Amino acid sequence: MTFDKTKFLLISVVSLATLASVAAIVPLRPYGVARRSLFAEERTPQPAPASLVSSTAKTAPLTTTAGTTETTTAASAPALTAPAAEQNRVYKDSLRWTFGGKQQRGWSIYVPLIQRLIGTDDDAASEGFAASLARWQKRAGLGASGVLDEATLMRMVSTWQSQRLKNRTYPQPDQLLTVPAAEFWDSSRAEDLRKVERQTYAAYKRMLAAAVADSSLQLASQGGELAASEKYLKIISAFRSREYQDRLRKLEPGAGRAALAVNSPHFTGRALDIYVGGEPTITKDPNRALQTETRAYRWLVRNAERFGFCPYFYEPWHWEYCAP
Ligand SMILES: [Zn+2]
Repeated sequence: MTFDKTKFLLISVVSLATLASVAAIVPLRPYGVARRSLFAEERTPQPAPASLVSSTAKTAPLTTTAGTTETTTAASAPALTAPAAEQNRVYKDSLRWTFGGKQQRGWSIYVPLIQRLIGTDDDAASEGFAASLARWQKRAGLGASGVLDEATLMRMVSTWQSQRLKNRTYPQPDQLLTVPAAEFWDSSRAEDLRKVERQTYAAYKRMLAAAVADSSLQLASQGGELAASEKYLKIISAFRSREYQDRLRKLEPGAGRAALAVNSPHFTGRALDIYVGGEPTITKDPNRALQTETRAYRWLVRNAERFGFCPYFYEPWHWEYCAP
């Protein structure tokens, strides 16, 4: 009798546990579990600085406590994602928001960075994207609507901005080295404008070697280095002294751009403008849209973090060496 009772209890517990894990997994399947684990491989092994960035890794084990919290979102997701996807299709090109004192329109330019942040490769107007976004919103303490509205976008912007270069020290002369002219986008660039902080340059060279070795990028190379004829991923601008930046600002007194340039970390020698297509450093939307479509830019979004580089979301060409 006692044995049977124990056996019955055991079976009940096991069945309940099975039911619970099925309930935890099943609603999540349609949103690409396989895709998420693939994505996890692309992520850096280094701990990410902001809590929201490591979110993909945190939610990966679906049957743990993280899985339990996700069940609630997933259960309500199917009803929400279709209209959310439709709303995202509209907002992607039309959402009004402000940045750098300037009216902005839509967020399609930032889709590669957004996909990386929320852990999906799904199209911005798809239900899968809306579902991934809803999970990120929940972790960020926002309403899990799956709609990329202004509040969500501003939270993403502050997440990206919080990851930027913290080391704002002015380099000593011996911390800078002069890069060969051939490694610059403009090979006629003057010698005093070809300086880069040493560690940043070493990391850049490691990153370049990986990019050259990746045949999907189809970069013209020679002996594992970028060929002289290749423009992609070459340095446009690196260290800019305070005096030089002051001169640049005086030459270009447009309020919006000047406001951005005042905070430019190029004086550290740890910020690199890297060629990713189009007009090298023009912030006009069509130019940035073109740049974020290039293989070179998309590769940087997925890989630069492994080499210690973090993006400045607004300028596809601007990368900072953020490693401590
Ligand atoms: Zn820059």
